Amino acid sequence: MNKSQAKAILNQLKQESGSHSPSISTILRSVPEIKLSIDACYLSNPYATELLYKYIKKDLLETDRLKDIIEYYPAQNNDIARIIARGIGINPDKIFVGNGAAEIIQAVIHHFGGNKIAINIPTFSAYYEFTLPRQEIVFFKTRKEEDFQLNKKDYLEFLHREKPSTLVLINPNNPDGGYLSNQEIEELLEETQNLVDCFILDESFIHFAFEDTTLSPVNSEKLIDKYPNLILIKSMSKDFGIAGIRTGYSIMDETRRKELTDHGFLWNVSGLAEYFYTLYSSEYFKNEYDIVRKKYIMNTQMFLAEIQKIPRLKAYPSKANFALLEIQNGTSSFDFAMDLLLEHGIYVRDCSDKIGLDGAFIRVASRSFEENLKIIQALKQLGS
Ligand SMILES: *Cc1c(COP(=O)(O)O)cnc(C)c1O
Repeated sequence: MNKSQAKAILNQLKQESGSHSPSISTILRSVPEIKLSIDACYLSNPYATELLYKYIKKDLLETDRLKDIIEYYPAQNNDIARIIARGIGINPDKIFVGNGAAEIIQAVIHHFGGNKIAINIPTFSAYYEFTLPRQEIVFFKTRKEEDFQLNKKDYLEFLHREKPSTLVLINPNNPDGGYLSNQEIEELLEETQNLVDCFILDESFIHFAFEDTTLSPVNSEKLIDKYPNLILIKSMSKDFGIAGIRTGYSIMDETRRKELTDHGFLWNVSGLAEYFYTLYSSEYFKNEYDIVRKKYIMNTQMFLAEIQKIPRLKAYPSKANFALLEIQNGTSSFDFAMDLLLEHGIYVRDCSDKIGLDGAFIRVASRSFEENLKIIQALKQLGS
């Protein structure tokens, strides 16, 4: 198969997968000639996956506990909430556990989204795809001229004009990595508390953000006690590198949590996720995890700084573990992404299907130190 035949097939796959990328296994099945060396489409911390797998081997495989996990029912949603509560110091009645954050997004939008939902674009597409036909969506577009930073004044004007029932913020945002500080989030909560019934804050990438030089963890979980309209959503897939386990949790007002668990979601979380949360809440695992979290953030910061230097690729400021790049040498994002894949074996996210992006954009994840060096080299070669 030559390069243009391969590209035609890859284009077909892209069209078929709608607003998500075709998975790497689908791609390799269709174009077996591709020698994949790095998946920089998936946004996870590879060091965290290794750490967790070390625990799984020791605790589950070598002891055969995995058999029990497979054979028996896992704990119920409320029980797993109590495990998480111990780790994060939040009332367990406010914690709802999901089979991936995607399940939580769907449940929250369907149950509490109301009739009008305000979503910033560019965004993670589930937020508008999972809405019901009766729910109106209004988009607020962040501008590349402002580095995709949320313009608070314009945003508040937009909210006052549109009067949505729900607003959605992702912090740091996917796909651009734009970040609002904890203080800015609290200000927005304060200014919108009488404006929206539901303030959805997705902190799936928050472990990669930092506000001080010691990289201490930040999050908005404690704000739930002050702002009952807050619904915080947190995937475990990206920061722990465990998308296959399918889990995330949400922090919300007790009455909302009860409304969800009274009508379903009894055993929606697997035994493997239950095991993961026992680690998540234990001091020894937290300490070990924090080391690989910081190591990965430092890698990522070096990676982002190197990418900044490539002349005809514009990297937007990111507090997440990826960079949104604008290709400024005239190549389309699809062609650029496919050249990276076919010539360098590096898979990145072509963002041509993302609404709210005008221009040629790709999103590139930070991986291990060695992989990042290879990604930078390939980008330099193709970008110049
Ligand atoms: C990946 C992602 C999710 C979904 O995560 P899962 O827990 O794997 O379902 C939710 N929100 C954002 C912003 C994401 O990028």
